[in-house]
Amino acid sequence: MFKLYNRLKIIYQLQLIDDQLDELEELRGDLPKTVKVLEDKINSLKEDIANMEKEQKESLKKRNRNELEVEKLSENQKKFKSQLYQVRNNKEYDALTKEIDHTEDQIKKLTAENDSLADLSKSLTVQIEDIKPSLDELKQELKENKADLKEIVKANEKEEAKLRSNRKKIESEVKKPDISAYMRIRKAKKGKAVATIKRSACSGCHNVVPSQRQLEIRQNNKLYLCEYCGRILVSNEIAESAKE
Ligand SMILES: [Zn+2]
Repeated sequence: MFKLYNRLKIIYQLQLIDDQLDELEELRGDLPKTVKVLEDKINSLKEDIANMEKEQKESLKKRNRNELEVEKLSENQKKFKSQLYQVRNNKEYDALTKEIDHTEDQIKKLTAENDSLADLSKSLTVQIEDIKPSLDELKQELKENKADLKEIVKANEKEEAKLRSNRKKIESEVKKPDISAYMRIRKAKKGKAVATIKRSACSGCHNVVPSQRQLEIRQNNKLYLCEYCGRILVSNEIAESAKE
């Protein structure tokens, strides 16, 4: 049963390393989350501004096109009006005035469209200017939080790198199904996947482990899970040897 002993020991060693990594993570507090939230907010505001600026550009293009069209129509209009003096009969006169009215309507329509496009562009500028100060504020806040986080990360950089390389080494020694069970329980229990027995109770959930089960666990020849919390239970002997 030597094999299982080592299997349990290595799982517990993995837990000990993860405990230390978790402690380093805890030192960072809410900073990583805050940074993420700020980044998301900033990106969303930047996107809003970019969309509005795009709309303004398109509006300007449309206005330019309309202006060219109005120029062309005005030229035509002049021509039509001069032709009015040269008509030979009523029919020609009616056709020409009809053309003049139609051109006039088109010019009015395009001019009105340009007025409302100009209004839209103005209101977009106001909206963009409204957003900019809060964007600057968020950027400043992000900068400060990032600096704080960087400082904490930097202070423990070496320790973390050492732990991570140790973890890698240990992880390569843990059996695949053990790793997946460990990771699953660790995730469900927010950190601790392995527990020991302290004063006859599971160190993870503090529920009493029946004395018969305690005896079996001390044999170190079978993998037991706590009946209450589902954590892997190891004997104190294994816990002690894992610390060496
Ligand atoms: Zn438990």
